[in-house]
Order: sequence, then C-alpha cells, then structure tokens
Amino acid sequence: MTVFDNESTPMVTPSEVIEHVYCPRFTYYMNCLNIPQHEGLRYKVLKGRTLHEKRETANRDYLRKKLGCTDKDISVYLTSRNIGVRGMIDEVLYLSDNTLAPLDYKYAEYTDYTFETHRVQSTLYALLIMENYQKPVHKGFICYAKSENRIKEIVYTEKDFCYAKGAVREVFDVILRGYYPERTQWQNRCIDCCYRNICV
Ligand code: SF4
Repeated sequence: MTVFDNESTPMVTPSEVIEHVYCPRFTYYMNCLNIPQHEGLRYKVLKGRTLHEKRETANRDYLRKKLGCTDKDISVYLTSRNIGVRGMIDEVLYLSDNTLAPLDYKYAEYTDYTFETHRVQSTLYALLIMENYQKPVHKGFICYAKSENRIKEIVYTEKDFCYAKGAVREVFDVILRGYYPERTQWQNRCIDCCYRNICV
C-alpha cells in the first residue's frame, strides 16, 4: 500500500541530497543557518524549468522506441517515509521486461563520466519508484539536453542503494544535530563556491 506524505513527516528532496553529496557543508549553511545559495544558481533553475516544459512534446515517441519502453508516467510526485525522501520524477518508464525505470532530464552536457550527484539522484528516484509502484527497478536513464538529448543508462548496484540511503541519513543527521560537517575533500569545488567567504 502506498503511504502518502502527510506533510508532517520530515523529508528531504533528492536535490538537497545531491547538494550534500557535493559538499556536506551546503546542508549546514542552507538548513541550519538558513543562508540561501547565490542568486546565480537561479539561472540553472530557470533553465531547468523551461526544459521541463519542452521535454514532454519533444521526446515522447523517440524515447519510447529507443529505450524499449511500453508506457510512461510524466512528472510523478512520490514520497517515502521509509527513507525520508520526497520528490518529483521527470518520467517513470515502463520497460518491456516488466520493470520500471526513472528518466531524469538534465540541462547539462553528456560525458562518459557519470557524476556522483547524478547517480545518487537517479538511485533515490529508483528507491521511490520501487516502494510506491511495488515493482523492480534495475536501471535508470539520464537525458542530457545540451548534448542533443543523449541518453545515459545507469545500472544500479546494491552499493548504490546503500550509498544513497546513507547520504539521506547524513543529511538528517546534520539538520537534526546541527553539527558543522567536514568540508568536501575536493578543494576545487571551493573555488567558485558561494559560501567560500564564510567557510573556514
Ligand atoms: S567553500 Fe568548499 S568546503 Fe566550504 S561549502 Fe563551499 S565547497 Fe564546501
């Protein structure tokens, strides 16, 4: 049975989780100190919105054929009290082998390397779909809009599921305990970070 979000259950979004994966201090600055991110990031958000509006007509039949999908649900809002996540999934695809798969549109360029953040987000969508649809999810897809909608397939492993759930637990841990987390180990992320002036 689907458990609906009753608004009082504490939940985080996949976006909050990927910001945490990028640097755990983002969680602290945004959620514990309420310091919003730079306005510049709005650009990406707005671009993302436009992309959401266009994608539904642009890709419908093309993707269905290419990915072997028999049907799909568009813009699906799902929640899970088990893992404490709520989010809107661009598309839930029904595959011909009777499994489901999330499809996520990114306003980004395709690279051979799959960013950890993209992978975690897709994995969280997979967990949400499995719980709410009660069907297996073995793989997901990311569509890169800046590379002519090139598609990347992600095959999930048990390690992915554990990692994604662990990342959610970490976000809650920082928010609930209010402690100052370690900085990211990737120093190049600090160069153009909006928090660099207050981050010690
Ligand atoms: S300056 Fe570096 S450590 Fe601090 S929040 Fe930004 S990315 Fe994280």
